[in-house]
Amino acid sequence: MQKDNSLAQYATKRFRLAGKAYLESGDPFFAPTDTLRREAEAKGQRFVSFANYDYLGLSTHPAIKSSAAAALDTFGVGALASRLVGGERSTHRNLEVALAKFVGTDSALTLVSGYLTNVTTISHILGSRDALFIDELSHNSILSGAKSAVAETVVFRHNDLDHLDFLLRERRENFRNVLIVAEGIYSMDGDVADLVRLVRIKEQRNAWLLIDEAHSIGVLGSEGRGLCEYAGVDPQQVDLIIGTLSKTLASCGGFVAGKAPVIDWLRYTLPGFVYSVGLSPVISAAAETALQLMQQETWRLRRLRENAELFMDLAHEAGLDTGPAIGRGVVPILFSDSLETLAASRLLLSQYYYVPPIIQIGVPKDQPRLRFFLSATHTEAEIRGVIDLLAKRKSEHAAPARALSVAT
Ligand code: PMP
Repeated sequence: MQKDNSLAQYATKRFRLAGKAYLESGDPFFAPTDTLRREAEAKGQRFVSFANYDYLGLSTHPAIKSSAAAALDTFGVGALASRLVGGERSTHRNLEVALAKFVGTDSALTLVSGYLTNVTTISHILGSRDALFIDELSHNSILSGAKSAVAETVVFRHNDLDHLDFLLRERRENFRNVLIVAEGIYSMDGDVADLVRLVRIKEQRNAWLLIDEAHSIGVLGSEGRGLCEYAGVDPQQVDLIIGTLSKTLASCGGFVAGKAPVIDWLRYTLPGFVYSVGLSPVISAAAETALQLMQQETWRLRRLRENAELFMDLAHEAGLDTGPAIGRGVVPILFSDSLETLAASRLLLSQYYYVPPIIQIGVPKDQPRLRFFLSATHTEAEIRGVIDLLAKRKSEHAAPARALSVAT
């Protein structure tokens, strides 16, 4: 009999290998959040999500909704072609000028996704005699950029800049151009790169530096301008800043920012920009309003900080492990194994706290976690409530072990 070599058969096998077994006791992913919200409200409870990177709580702001509605009315939904050949709407440039001003660069260019922005930028700017030096915990979009690039990829240990410097010292001469990539806040661990040292290394080793600020724009720095502001580094010293519109800016899309000659070149050549449709004008209008609100409603950043500090203090008091997180927008709580993580997530969801388990995908298999995205709009009671449940669960699970050791 001929072996079943269909794509469906192959997919079934790969899915099983990827951990489908975990789904059999109830799928913790793709939670139906609107249904859950209604269900919670019917019982007089609140559905509280720690699963969305709405750091400043702008996602439902009336001013954003009305600017999106006005743009919809004026322009319709789609940009209807690549901006290069289809033309652009005023809102595209307005957003780009505002983004560049906010992050402190000359210019910026927006694309339809943050993921795409990393993939296309990294693979475009490097040629076959070049190299890319990336952190081992880089986001998947950076890894995809590395895969699509013809340049060689060299991986340094997470946030270990001695290692990066060592690798560059050993190997820099083998390459023409070198691009170092690091992240503002790492999306799974909530820690940050040492930007001051990264800039020193890139200058000494004659390299370029790209910082992915997806999780740090609106979160780090006294005005939320990102890692440069947080580290006290002039953004002009960083060659490329990549960000998304999907997190603090509450919509979707990505941007790349840098010096004028770089962005001018990308505007005419970057494949993910030139050969893809322009950002929906509805989205660019919404993101532009979000950017203005971030700067006007400064209480939001203050509240996010207070919430994050409270969360960290309570988690540590309860003996929960937050790994290397600095305690800003992203904070993981680490567990000993995947089943434990799934059980904790289910327990929280039964009380309408939505904190999805991060197992196998995006993190090392032996470091499963519940990943919390904190927001300015979480209340103190919500933060206390979710940590209380985890603390109780932890002490209940610790109890039998203690009883056993007393008995023997
Ligand atoms: N970079 C990082 C560090 C991310 O965490 C993400 C997504 N969470 C992206 C890029 C991609 O951004 P987007 O989801 O807006 O496409």
